[in-house]
Amino acid sequence: MRCQPEYKGPVYIWSKNIQTCLLCDEPSDSALALCSPCLDDLPWLGAQCSICALPLPAAGMVCGQCLQRPPAFQRVIVPWRYDFPMDSLISRFKHQEKWPYGRLMSELLGQLLQYRFDEDLPRPDLLLPVPLSRRRLRQRGFNQAGMLAHWLGSQLQLRVDAQLLKRIQGTPAQQGLDARARHRNLRQAFALAAHAPVAGRHLALVDDVLTTGATAQALARLLLDAGAQRVDVYCLARTPRPGPST
Ligand SMILES: [Zn+2]
Ligand SMILES: [Zn+2]
Repeated sequence: MRCQPEYKGPVYIWSKNIQTCLLCDEPSDSALALCSPCLDDLPWLGAQCSICALPLPAAGMVCGQCLQRPPAFQRVIVPWRYDFPMDSLISRFKHQEKWPYGRLMSELLGQLLQYRFDEDLPRPDLLLPVPLSRRRLRQRGFNQAGMLAHWLGSQLQLRVDAQLLKRIQGTPAQQGLDARARHRNLRQAFALAAHAPVAGRHLALVDDVLTTGATAQALARLLLDAGAQRVDVYCLARTPRPGPST
């Protein structure tokens, strides 16, 4: 007679780990909601500018724009090019409230950051989501950058302050302005909360997509002017070539 106690451990682990791949609907072979073939197929950012992460033909270089006018932020950490399927995943996360997509991308960005922290990237004191205007927040109902910062904060044990950066109302639209006016306009679009504790601190901005970097530049400038010691940028995807200012 066989009389073995029923061992639930592996069964529990197995059932916990079974997830369906969000891209191909096949069972995932890892703890992620993404199977290995789909993970490998993502548009991982290869050679890039070592400051702003602009895709470049060779690694370890700085792009022309960063050489000419070094940005106020020090490093951009970003896993993917803004290309299929990241564009569609980000859009569904932002516009169709598909939280699992956001959660998955944030988890992978968190893994990249942890890897970089273990190498040589200094851990920031605080994560700061790029703020949305109140009007946009009302339309959308949530700030996707705030959710990303919150998920990254719990994954990496980093503090998050979603109230420190403010978007000011009534900034004129960017359309029709030349580059200088756009930059000035953007700088006037943000402010710090009263008594924001930024002096001497290392801060990291969190956003979904980095396009021209103009928003990150405006926010980093604001933080450095207020005494911040260093500003980095963490985001999900980088556009290959600068598009319209965002
Ligand atoms: Zn898959
Ligand atoms: Zn660059």
